[in-house]
Amino acid sequence: MRNKIVILTGAGISAESGLGTFRDAGGLWSQYDLEEVATPEGFARDPAKVHGFYNARRANAKAAEPNAAHIALARLERDWPGQVVLITQNIDDLHERAGHQRVIHMHGELMEAKCEACDAHWEAPLQMLPADACPECGEHATRPDIVWFGEMPYDMDLIEQHITSADLFASIGTSGQVFPAAGFVMQANAADARTVELNLEPSELSGMFDERHEGLASEVVPAWVNRLLAGS
Ligand code: NAD
Repeated sequence: MRNKIVILTGAGISAESGLGTFRDAGGLWSQYDLEEVATPEGFARDPAKVHGFYNARRANAKAAEPNAAHIALARLERDWPGQVVLITQNIDDLHERAGHQRVIHMHGELMEAKCEACDAHWEAPLQMLPADACPECGEHATRPDIVWFGEMPYDMDLIEQHITSADLFASIGTSGQVFPAAGFVMQANAADARTVELNLEPSELSGMFDERHEGLASEVVPAWVNRLLAGS
């Protein structure tokens, strides 16, 4: 019995819900300049452009539905007799909408806004604008609650504690190109967890996993969850 399961998800788990991945051919980074829309410097230069980018992502995410992979992980959280910890790099809310109770959003959340002046957090309106004032302090310092490149991901201490105490670590739908998440499999291996990768194709990190399952998340994730819950 592998008691504690720690799962990392990336953009690939939401691809079949219609949300574009970043690095695949035709992905978001082939359409947008990362430096312009996903860095603090880009936001300082042109906040309207950055808000426009995330307003479009937010509208797409609202229109999307969880797929069979999100639903299978919510079932694993509900039915697994041990602990299941879900860490996602995704900023969409499809895990929650599939019924997952506890999700660590290490790169922030599209549906949340925050104030750079007083650090207040609130539910993001569908359209955020540079002129928006903070509902707490009134400053015009509001931004999407997204961790941009060059910023520190959320909950890193908690994540490290979970990974170093995992019995089983699974990475789902992530290319393994963005640190620190790309380093989690090394930490899990060092802690003697069994490591599993579920991805459409081999990733940069495939050689580091004990077990690999290639295919669509909507197929390989429910099959993996069924095997775990059946005890095999
Ligand atoms: P990525 O685009 O770098 O990699 C996606 C991976 O998913 C690839 O390895 C690809 O082969 C795989 N994949 C594509 N379709 C799949 C499918 N149907 N089933 C299984 N695997 C599939 O994304 P990443 O590794 O998550 O990159 C990290 C960054 O991307 C993070 O910063 C994250 O916040 C951001 N991101 C999030 C979203 C979202 O919230 N939905 C969307 C795009 C990017």
